[in-house]
Amino acid sequence: MAFTVAIDGPAASGKGTIARAVAERFGFAHLDTGLLYRATGRRMMDGEDPLEAARNLRASDLDRPDLRGGDVAQAASRVAVDPKVRAALLDFQHAFARRSGGAVLDGRDIGTVICPDADTKLFITASDAVRAGRRHAELCARGDTVTLAQVLADLRQRDTRDAARASAPMKPADDAVLIDTSSMGIDDAIEAACTVIRRTMDARGNGTS
Ligand code: C5P
Repeated sequence: MAFTVAIDGPAASGKGTIARAVAERFGFAHLDTGLLYRATGRRMMDGEDPLEAARNLRASDLDRPDLRGGDVAQAASRVAVDPKVRAALLDFQHAFARRSGGAVLDGRDIGTVICPDADTKLFITASDAVRAGRRHAELCARGDTVTLAQVLADLRQRDTRDAARASAPMKPADDAVLIDTSSMGIDDAIEAACTVIRRTMDARGNGTS
């Protein structure tokens, strides 16, 4: 069965955690598309031309342990503005989305550009303060010494760049279901997402659990 779930939203909205949980629940494969841009940004930080980096990206690049920091996130957001870089990363995402057995992709432009025909589209949001608090806790747990104010400024800068760019800006697809996780625990957010997906499956007579 091919079933595609598109999950978009700003940084630290909870979309990655929800995407992983949804994939596990329904037995789908999961692609965190932010990693493609982070890996490209990382290679740019190492001195490579970003377009060459995107064209030469390998699956093993996504496993690099140094992709999670705030500096790499900013580099990812900068390379993601370039339509040629985005185009170089299209085929991989399309092939992933079409795999049999179902796929969940999370990012910024999945419901609008990568998978406009996705079976279910979700757009996950949360307030700036909540998102910054979550990301700050995550970075501190990894040993980073960044302040909450820095994290908030970083998120806002990236959101603005991601939403304002001409090529595939971050925005909800017209037919996306919005889930605001500001005052939700992660379990409730996952349940809300699974309920939307289950509803689509039931409407189509798809019984996969
Ligand atoms: O999701 P994550 O925070 O890892 O993404 C890093 C950056 O990659 C984002 O700020 C955005 O600029 C870019 N990105 C994108 N399109 C996607 C996924 C990520 O432009 N589908």
